[in-house]
Amino acid sequence: MKFDHTDISNGHGIDFIDEPLINSLIDENIEEDPVLCREIFAKSKSKQPFNLQDTAALIAIRSEGLLHELFETARELKREIYGKRIVLFAPLYVGNHCVNDCKYCGFRRSAKGTVRKTLTKEELVKEIYNLEDLGHKRLILVFGESPKYTPEFIADCVRICYSTKKGNGEIRRVNINAAPLDIEGYRTVKSAGIGTFQVFQETYHRETYARYHPANDIKGDYMWRLNAMDRAFMGGIDDMGIGVLFGLYDWRFELLSLVSHSIHLQDRYGVGPHTISFPRIQPAQDMNLPLPYRVTDEQFKKLVAILRLAVPYTGLIMTARESEEIRDQVMEFGVSQIDAGTRLEIGGYQNRDREQELSREQFRVGDTRNLDDVIHWLLKNEFIPSFCTSCYRVGRTGEHFMEYAIPGFIKKFCTPNAMLTLAEYLEDYATPETKEAGYSVIEKNLQSMEESEQKQKILSKLEAIKTGKRDLLF
Ligand code: SAM
Ligand code: SF4
Repeated sequence: MKFDHTDISNGHGIDFIDEPLINSLIDENIEEDPVLCREIFAKSKSKQPFNLQDTAALIAIRSEGLLHELFETARELKREIYGKRIVLFAPLYVGNHCVNDCKYCGFRRSAKGTVRKTLTKEELVKEIYNLEDLGHKRLILVFGESPKYTPEFIADCVRICYSTKKGNGEIRRVNINAAPLDIEGYRTVKSAGIGTFQVFQETYHRETYARYHPANDIKGDYMWRLNAMDRAFMGGIDDMGIGVLFGLYDWRFELLSLVSHSIHLQDRYGVGPHTISFPRIQPAQDMNLPLPYRVTDEQFKKLVAILRLAVPYTGLIMTARESEEIRDQVMEFGVSQIDAGTRLEIGGYQNRDREQELSREQFRVGDTRNLDDVIHWLLKNEFIPSFCTSCYRVGRTGEHFMEYAIPGFIKKFCTPNAMLTLAEYLEDYATPETKEAGYSVIEKNLQSMEESEQKQKILSKLEAIKTGKRDLLF
């Protein structure tokens, strides 16, 4: 692994988004080429990340038949690498004070009518209790950008999450979505034991970036944000989450940029991004924007399927911004993580009965079902809802995670751990209908496994969970 500290901190940064190249790849790939696309589908079976040319060729797909083949290939690859599990988490909004003025965001400083709040320690603890009472084990803490939200403050919030336990409830993994930090800042939050640090570039297209982010704001500095993950890696964080806010610019450009970003991280640090998020822009408080690049549902499905093939070992996160209907359709094409029972309001888990109010949230949530309903829906579709946090707790992160992942070992850990954490949920929190559906999915999966020492271990851990043992992991 080789990297040079200085070219990040010298103020210029590393620019790995080659706009002319990306534009020319889009222009050269207007017509679909079925022969080439089928070659790429076949190649994707080797589970090697794509280059930009392969990605661009798939972007050109238009015909029904080839689209269907793309979706089928993505579905198969997902099943092969990730099994049937879907990891569940909840976002916890800690504070919405913000010095920036991103035009699409309900937290931006100029938004009229936004109710500003930062949770006190007591309120944070209450939110965590509420989330634990629902059965959550994995959180992502979300912050606006404000001098209040220092790395120390963020690290304290993380420690509070880990140390707040109620009954069998505990938080086992805390991820972060906050403003980009400097290297020292990342070190500070890492020391609190975070999982992934997410920073979405929003748009990789410079001109568009400048249009939505005023130049004098901290967020107005495109390069500071573009190199957020480089600094995170240098600060000791090897679980990096990247993303795009789809709808600001041409989805094809953004998709090729996400792949460029993944290639950059992989080439330079030996670790690709742990997750990619692809939120589509939602209505927000005092937001009245022309959005000529809105991504249609059809484009959305296609981009998720292409991403699945392009970055086979990167987790794909589909958030509750999407409606129940879209989640139902897109899940199969490669999504590995979703949030459930989501409340975006600051303090929202203590006031779950309150209707969505845009003045209290960053944007409108599309899927408002509660956690148990989402779990029931996943089970009905034969997915295994998972609260697994094993990999990062036993050290399978970053480069090590890739070593495990590439030879296909994930299934060996993920599916058993998904069953065990699902069983914990079924015992402690599920409604009777979900409990029945859950054990029937576990049973089905056990039946499909051949007899082995591993299967015996799973069976005995499942029995132990029924007698009250918790946190049994592979
Ligand atoms: N303030 C930090 C930042 O901007 O990096 C933390 C993240 S912000 C609270 C979380 C993400 O929400 C943003 O990166 C952006 O992609 C997304 N977001 C903002 N406004 C949105 C909207 N109207 N619809 C959907 N997602 C939005
Ligand atoms: Fe602030 Fe983040 Fe919203 Fe921009 S996206 S206004 S930085 S909270």
